[in-house]
Amino acid sequence: MDADRSFGLSQPVASPLYTSAVYSIPDLDVLDRICDGKEPGYIYARDKHPNAQQLADELAKLESAEWGVMTASGMGAVSATLMAIVSQGDRIIASDQLYGRTTQLLTTELFRLGVSVSIVDMSNLDHVEVALAQPAKALIIETISNPMLRVADVPALGQLAEKHNCELILDNTFATPVLFRPIEVGATIVIESLTKMIGGHSDITLGGVFGRNPDLQKRISQVMTIWGLSPSPFDCWMAMRSLATMELRVRTAAENAAKLANWLPTQSGVRKVYYPGLPSHPDHGLAKRLMSGPPGNIITVELEGGREAVNGFMRTAIDIPFCPSLGDAQTTCSYPAGTSHRYVDLEEKRRLGITDGLLRLSIGIEPIDVIRQNLVKGLS
Ligand SMILES: *Cc1c(COP(=O)(O)O)cnc(C)c1O
Repeated sequence: MDADRSFGLSQPVASPLYTSAVYSIPDLDVLDRICDGKEPGYIYARDKHPNAQQLADELAKLESAEWGVMTASGMGAVSATLMAIVSQGDRIIASDQLYGRTTQLLTTELFRLGVSVSIVDMSNLDHVEVALAQPAKALIIETISNPMLRVADVPALGQLAEKHNCELILDNTFATPVLFRPIEVGATIVIESLTKMIGGHSDITLGGVFGRNPDLQKRISQVMTIWGLSPSPFDCWMAMRSLATMELRVRTAAENAAKLANWLPTQSGVRKVYYPGLPSHPDHGLAKRLMSGPPGNIITVELEGGREAVNGFMRTAIDIPFCPSLGDAQTTCSYPAGTSHRYVDLEEKRRLGITDGLLRLSIGIEPIDVIRQNLVKGLS
C-alpha cells in the first residue's frame, strides 16, 4: 500500500485495517479520473476497498494470475464467476463431485434463470469430450473433490476446454496455491474459499476469484458489486495475516496427513482410507504428477460399524472437534453423509461411496504424536 503521510517519516509494519465504507474525493475532475481508471483511488467500499485490493494483489501473485477479485465467501466467488459468464440459454458442464452449494447454485438458482447444466464424471475424459459436443460456456471442477478426494486432470481438461472455446473453472480450495496453481497448467479461472485453509483459523468467511483475462475481471467485479457480494475489510485484513503463515501451515498439515494416511489403515476399526497420496487411491499418479509434496490435509476414512462407530469416535475423540468445515490449524472432523451430502439421495450417495461410516478428517498442524493420540482415543 502507498505510504501514509500521517505517520511522518516512518510507517507501520502491520497492514492497517480501513473500515471506511466511503471515500472523500477533492473535486469532480478527480472523480472522473478515478472512475475512468486513469488514476488509482477508492470511492465506495462495496465496489473496492484497500484491504480487499491488497489481498487480491497478493493472492493473484501466488496463483500465477494477473488479477484477483475478493468476495464475501467462497460461494460469493462461485456465484460472481458463473453470473459473469452465463446468459439465459447458456450451458455449464459441471463435475459430479462439486461442493453441495455449488451444485445447488447450478441446478436450482441458475437453472431457474434459464441456464442448463450437464453433470459429468470428469475423471473420465471421454465423458467430458461427449458433453463438449454441445456448446458450453464453462467446465467447473474442484482440484481435489469432497469427500472422495478425486484429483482433477487440469492439463487434460484445459486442452479440452481450449479446443471447445470454453472457460475451465477450478475450485482450488482443497489444494490452495501452496500445493497447486491451476492457472499454470490450463485453468482460465481459479476460485478459492478463504474460509478454509487460506484463512486457516476458522474465523473468517471469505472468497476470491483469480484469472488472467482482463475482460473477465471487469465482468466479475461488476457482478460482485451489483449483486452485493463484496467482502468485509475486516475479513480481508485477517486473511492478510493468514497469508504470512499459509505456506508453513498448508505444508505442515499436508505432511502430517500423508504420515497419518499411511498409519490409519493399520488401526483396528478402520475399513478404508481415502487419500490421494496413497497408492490405493485412483488418482495417486495424477496427484504425484500435478502437486508439489503431499496432496493436501484431508483424509477420508470409512469406519467399521457405520453411524454408531462415527458417533463413538466423535464422543471419545473430544480434542478433534466435529464441525462441518475444514482447514483449521487444529485437526477437526466432519461427517459427509450428515452435513455436506445430507440432502443427496441415497442412490447418489451410494454411487459416490458416501456411506454411513464415512468420516472426513481435516488434519491440522499439531505435533503428529498429539494428532495420533487423539485419533487412537476416537478409534478405540
Ligand atoms: C467451503 C467451500 C466452498 C464455499 O466456501 P464458503 O466460504 O463457505 O462460501 C466452495 N468450494 C469448496 C470446495 C469448499 O470447500
